[in-house]
Amino acid sequence: MISLKHELHKFLACPIDKKSPLLLLVLDDSSSEIVSGVFRCGECTRFYPIIDGIPILLPDHLRNQSQETNFLIKWKNKLPDEIIYQSLPFNIKPED
Ligand SMILES: [Zn+2]
Repeated sequence: MISLKHELHKFLACPIDKKSPLLLLVLDDSSSEIVSGVFRCGECTRFYPIIDGIPILLPDHLRNQSQETNFLIKWKNKLPDEIIYQSLPFNIKPED
C-alpha cells in the first residue's frame, strides 16, 4: 500500500512556473511523514527542501540561502550531483 504521505506531493507545484508534479526524493522518513527530502522542478531546475517535515516551496526572494545551503551540505552524500551542484536558486561548489 502506498501511504498518503507519498501521494500528497502530487498536488504541489513549483511556485515559479507552476509545474506539477515535482520530482520527490525522500532522504529521511518516519511512519507518518517525510522528515527530510527534496522536491525538484524539471522545468526550471529549482530544488525545494523538506526540512523537519515541512516542504519549503517559496519564491526565490523569500528563501533562506544559509539554511538551504546548509541543508545541501548536510545531505551531500545522499543527493544526486545535479541537485547539489547545479540546482537553482542555490547550490554548492564541489570544494565545499
Ligand atoms: Zn519550476
